[in-house]
Amino acid sequence: MIRITQLRNKCIGCNACVEAFPQRWRISRKDGKSVLVGGRANKSVHFLLTGEDEWEGHSVAAKNCPVRVIRVERC
Ligand code: SF4
Repeated sequence: MIRITQLRNKCIGCNACVEAFPQRWRISRKDGKSVLVGGRANKSVHFLLTGEDEWEGHSVAAKNCPVRVIRVERC
């Protein structure tokens, strides 16, 4: 199992995570920030528990995020 965490209020909507892993990231039409598809929110911290098979995609998203607001960890 892996946990993805996004500090969404600091997202600048650059689209890099969407390009890295479009199955799980998309840009919101409402505010232009990215959304973790299937995730849950605790105030501005959004998170998702998912399978190991998504590790690579989210890791690339996290690495490419220019403001470093995506964290990927095993749990
Ligand atoms: S890569 Fe980072 S800053 Fe860019 S849209 Fe995704 S979360 Fe936001």
